[in-house]
Amino acid sequence: MITPSTIAIFEHVMKQYAVELRQIGQTIDREPDRLTDFLHTSALQAINHMMIPPEYGGQPIVTIGQDRYYGLSSLERVITIEQLSAGDAGVFLGGPGPSMSSIVMIDLGDEEQKERFYSHFLKGPAWAVFALSEPEKGSDATEISTRITRHPDGGMELTGHKFYIGNGHRASIGLVFAQTNRTPLGIQVAIVDPSLPGFTATPLDTMGLRGLQLSHLQFEAFPLEEKDILGRHLSPTKRGLWGALRTFHRMRPSVAALALGVAQAAYDYVVEHRTIFTEREKTELERLEMRLHALRSMIRNAAAEIDHDANKGYLASLSKIRAASVAEEATEWALEMMGPGSMLEHPLLNKWYRDARAFEFMEGTTSIQKISVFQAYANGKMQHV
Ligand SMILES: Cc1cc2nc3c(=O)[nH]c(=O)nc-3n(C[C@H](O)[C@H](O)[C@H](O)COP(=O)(O)OP(=O)(O)OC[C@H]3O[C@@H](n4cnc5c(N)ncnc54)[C@H](O)[C@@H]3O)c2cc1C
Repeated sequence: MITPSTIAIFEHVMKQYAVELRQIGQTIDREPDRLTDFLHTSALQAINHMMIPPEYGGQPIVTIGQDRYYGLSSLERVITIEQLSAGDAGVFLGGPGPSMSSIVMIDLGDEEQKERFYSHFLKGPAWAVFALSEPEKGSDATEISTRITRHPDGGMELTGHKFYIGNGHRASIGLVFAQTNRTPLGIQVAIVDPSLPGFTATPLDTMGLRGLQLSHLQFEAFPLEEKDILGRHLSPTKRGLWGALRTFHRMRPSVAALALGVAQAAYDYVVEHRTIFTEREKTELERLEMRLHALRSMIRNAAAEIDHDANKGYLASLSKIRAASVAEEATEWALEMMGPGSMLEHPLLNKWYRDARAFEFMEGTTSIQKISVFQAYANGKMQHV
């Protein structure tokens, strides 16, 4: 469990990993496939083990104070991810490990499913996909059309398309959301093995976060068995999409932390590379510094509150809205501060500018987050904020 007094030590460890990510960030941005050349680095080795519970073989990050962090709380994750993202968000996201799928697995998987899932990452670097979005259905997950069909002989198959799926092209295991019937409770989560016939993954050419290799997944009569469906041991309201909603609340502060990391990196770059500032520029610099501090407090507070009560998802939404816009503004401001031609002369700023545009879409756009905040306000949950 992370405490305020150990945060600085933990950040120090993460900053060392961030240096490694920064060193390879531009190479991976140009050639995402080369990520596998760097799997031996201590940063990517550590990322592969993040978010694996100790009872399933997870290896903690151990600080000099002998504290052990598995990345299982939202607060641990936002501190970790901010630093790693300041190193390089694309390489961090493209790195191996169970990532967001781990939280779904913890909430919805039974013992056999958890053993099966986590064992993938213990043998060596491996990737998992979390496949919810579809070509025409991103924001409204209740409308997804990928289907699980049950045959009279007891067999099952998965058919449909998933779009913008991180690491889809690299994955050796995945969690896929699909309809079993046309009701919101009919959306279930299946564990899939991409080596089986009926699966194809095509990388998409993106402008930002290129290390993540967003992919288009296609399932054609892909074979499933009953043991592949998560949450068989849970009630219908606790499995599937509704069960996963708590997962989304717990992951959303991490997307905010990703955005904060990129914004902080852009700010630090300007401070390091510009020595003389006009009075107006000094004011802008101070204002951005204060906004970054305020955003960090907001994200950590949201994460700590959500660790305590996963229903406080509106706090995550508020911090994600703010973080996505600060990242966009900070990266644009940094380019302006470095003068004409900075897109060409400062490749890191060029990269962060492109990367920052992705955070608006990850884990729900600002409009969707605002709807969630409004619903919390309308039903009285937000009175004490
Ligand atoms: C870097 C990155 C990584 C991603 N990784 C994954 C992943 O691993 N797995 C996965 O499943 N998905 C992933 N996604 C997809 C992401 O979740 C979707 O992009 C997001 O949900 C938005 O969906 P969409 O792109 O279809 O936009 P749309 O839903 O088509 O939205 C388009 C626009 O319409 C607005 N809009 C939509 N509905 C409403 C409404 N009801 N009211 C008001 N405005 C509305 C939106 O705000 C947006 O501005 C990733 C996306 C990115 C950019």
